[in-house]
Amino acid sequence: MELSEERLIEAIARVLSGEEPGVVVGMGDDAAVVRPGSGEVVLSTDLLVEKVHFERDAIAPRDLGAKAIVVNLSDLAAMAASPRYALVALGLPADVEAAWVVELVGGMRDACAEHVVALVGGDTSRADLVVISVAVTGEVAPGRALTRSGARPGDALVVTGWLGAAAGGLAVARSADPAKWLSEDWGRELARALDRPAARVGEAQVLAAAGATAMIDLSDGLAKDLSRLCRASGVGARVRAADVPVAPALLEGAEALGVDPLRLALAGGEDYELLATIPPGAVEPVRSELRETFGVPLAALGEVVEGQGVTLVADDGTETPLAPDGWDHFA
Ligand SMILES: [Mg+2]
Repeated sequence: MELSEERLIEAIARVLSGEEPGVVVGMGDDAAVVRPGSGEVVLSTDLLVEKVHFERDAIAPRDLGAKAIVVNLSDLAAMAASPRYALVALGLPADVEAAWVVELVGGMRDACAEHVVALVGGDTSRADLVVISVAVTGEVAPGRALTRSGARPGDALVVTGWLGAAAGGLAVARSADPAKWLSEDWGRELARALDRPAARVGEAQVLAAAGATAMIDLSDGLAKDLSRLCRASGVGARVRAADVPVAPALLEGAEALGVDPLRLALAGGEDYELLATIPPGAVEPVRSELRETFGVPLAALGEVVEGQGVTLVADDGTETPLAPDGWDHFA
């Protein structure tokens, strides 16, 4: 099928033809018109580039589309914002089939629908590689955006969900025989963590309401993102290795994959879990609320301390600096 821009936009519009709350003029005009909410507007954008962030033959287009939205919503979640609108720009090589693009946009629609986000506009262009640029807006009550810079010594360091699963999924994809590991439950679970991450939007609201002082989403790995939060807050942190929530599927498959599960949990990227600092007394109430409302665990893995830098405390009490050597997009 020839992929003229006209036909492509028609196909995309068909996938997205839904009435959305707050949208005055949706896709198809020169620009979208939306109603502002009553709070402050939170803006973010994130770029996915073929061969840098993904391989086209290693991820289903529907998963890729959903992920492109989710990684953006994760940044809004990390500010304790509620997502509202999204814009998408696509760079598409000539060899991409229209069906692939329709699946991609279908995945975007799924992720938007899950979080009641309206995809209100977009653009396409020829490109040498697939490039997916998404911009999102969200809303937060005035003065209530949760930044990286409010952590205080004595705060507990908490993280939602499990860590290292996405890096484990990458290890599966890059192994000599991915099909062999994908026949195992743990292999499929790791691959899914990489291809279909979740945006912790509701969980972020619970953390914010419980008095979180700082928050960041884990896109580049705990070591790197925690060091960013500490730098922004002018504090240090201690992380107890024994309390790092290593994904169970990663523990199960680590030996077969020949990877160190703790290392992937500390330095692997793309988990999109939330790392927050909260008053120590808030840990238990937040933990039960996240478990009951979302079925998501909360790990208390360390504390904020005075000074700078992040220290990893091993099971035997040995302390080593945790270098911010998270996943590097340019490695
Ligand atoms: Mg982020």
